[in-house]
Amino acid sequence: MNSDIKIMLELQEYWDNIRSSKSAIEKALESTRAAEKEIAEHTRKLNSIGNSVMELKNSVKRQELDLADMGNRIKKLEDRKMMIKTEKELHAREKEIDVIRFDIGSLEEKTLTMIDELDGVEKKYSQLEQDVRQKEIRLNDARLKFAQETSRHEEIVARNEEKFNSLIGRLSAGYKSKFLKFLNSRDGTAIARVEDEICGFCNRKIPPYLAIEASKDDRVATCSNCGKYIYK
Ligand SMILES: [Zn+2]
Repeated sequence: MNSDIKIMLELQEYWDNIRSSKSAIEKALESTRAAEKEIAEHTRKLNSIGNSVMELKNSVKRQELDLADMGNRIKKLEDRKMMIKTEKELHAREKEIDVIRFDIGSLEEKTLTMIDELDGVEKKYSQLEQDVRQKEIRLNDARLKFAQETSRHEEIVARNEEKFNSLIGRLSAGYKSKFLKFLNSRDGTAIARVEDEICGFCNRKIPPYLAIEASKDDRVATCSNCGKYIYK
């Protein structure tokens, strides 16, 4: 095998290691960010439900005070019944009491509905609260794991960068800039193996003479289709 090709293969291996470790770090960072965002959204929702709970509780309390107030009014009216002298007056007083009793009835109904509603909202709140807590616990675990994974991958990156940097100087100057350009492209690949006259990178057939060149020690061949360095 051509010595430049040998060097390229080794460099490509270091490069692949660097890329895969960097992408693992990025992926872990992304999933942590997504989990944080989800928790923030749930917490916002939780706070808004918490506000509804407070509002409902206050309304129920107000209505209960109103009911007590109405009860007192009826009691007062009943007490004063003793002092009434005429039939007409008594009739009017009883009518007044009936009106208040009717109001009490409808307000009681409204309050009961509200208490039911409050019950439902409180249940929803506690479910969501539990959900958020569990998510936070999971996120903390993930953060710990992420920190360990990241330092492991950072070590891999550093080790491979060191090897890469000490070897790149040995690649013949004529191939270096094209090789580095390929490595820094989106696919990060500079060299591919040829098998049965097929380029291992682009999977296209190359001319037979090129396949022979790719196997020679004194040549550095490139794919006629994708341009990557090829070897056999
Ligand atoms: Zn190719």
